[in-house]
Amino acid sequence: MANLHHKLIILGGGPAGLTAGLYAARARMNHLLIEKGAEGGQVLLTDWIDNYPGFPEGISGFDLAEKMTAQAKRFELNFMFGNVLSMDIKTKPMRLELEDNSFLTCDSLIICTGAHPRSLNIPGEKEFTGKGVSYCATCDAPFYRNQRVAVIGGGNTAVQEASHLTKFADKVIVIHRRDELRATKILQEKAFANPKIEFVWDTTATAITGKDGVEGLELLHKNGDKSAIQVDGVFVLVGVLPNNEMLPLEDLEADGGGFIPTDQETRTVVAGVMAAGDIRSKEVRQVINAAGEGATSVRAAENYLTNLR
Ligand code: NAP
Repeated sequence: MANLHHKLIILGGGPAGLTAGLYAARARMNHLLIEKGAEGGQVLLTDWIDNYPGFPEGISGFDLAEKMTAQAKRFELNFMFGNVLSMDIKTKPMRLELEDNSFLTCDSLIICTGAHPRSLNIPGEKEFTGKGVSYCATCDAPFYRNQRVAVIGGGNTAVQEASHLTKFADKVIVIHRRDELRATKILQEKAFANPKIEFVWDTTATAITGKDGVEGLELLHKNGDKSAIQVDGVFVLVGVLPNNEMLPLEDLEADGGGFIPTDQETRTVVAGVMAAGDIRSKEVRQVINAAGEGATSVRAAENYLTNLR
């Protein structure tokens, strides 16, 4: 591919990137959105979204991603699939290297690369991934019809997906390392009222066991006791890590977790580079604020480009 220059490149096509793309396309900016996998990002892993305004009955993650994509494309979103491996954001123009050895240049960049599920790093986890260990209940729940599964974690994802799993599994055992959930109250209430969900508190999983697939979990309780339970599947839902391997973290002054700090307007410490959505250093990672930050970031890019002239 020849070297192509754009005034704005948006990296990542999740809710933040698609919203940035929608705003950039509607503003008729010279833009390009680059996505590595499927449009939608992590929202595709979410079974049901009840807290995105405008959908009184809720909406599936897949449908919301599809609608966001269709809406941006209606305004002639300039889109390509590509895998950016590295970038130089200190040069003018900035330069992005792609996997196929081509490169793209731009005057401004919005980083919307999102996040991915964290692993536990315990014995058996890697070995049984895809053979009973899963990081996506929405994707894999139907495999566990009438079976017993464990969910590790106590955040929104773990508690929401535990409820989803009860549509298929006979028993869902939520194992949490503390005696209090991090998940929002309404999700907790729903899970506590579900007779198929059992909670095991103050407990960590130390190993996932089995022969050809998952057969059990070894547990360590806070009082030092150890125990083992029989399960057919283990859903590891213990938070997210940034998709930052292509980013110059030092230039962007990434935080200790590898997320990118910005100001209120989504501007990073590098002029002309914005970050929006789950890759931003922040407390709340919701579709709604990813979308909001996507919109804000385009305004910041427009202001930067205007002053560049
Ligand atoms: P999260 O909020 O960071 O929660 C991670 C959970 O995993 C916590 O309960 C944490 O325990 C536990 N944990 C972390 N590392 C662990 C380890 N090594 N061993 C055992 N447990 C461990 O992550 P999340 O639930 O994936 O949510 C990510 C973001 O998406 C959040 O901002 C969340 O609000 C958002 N989200 C929102 C919704 C919704 O609004 N419906 C749904 C899904 C996700 P501690 O509590 O002890 O730290």
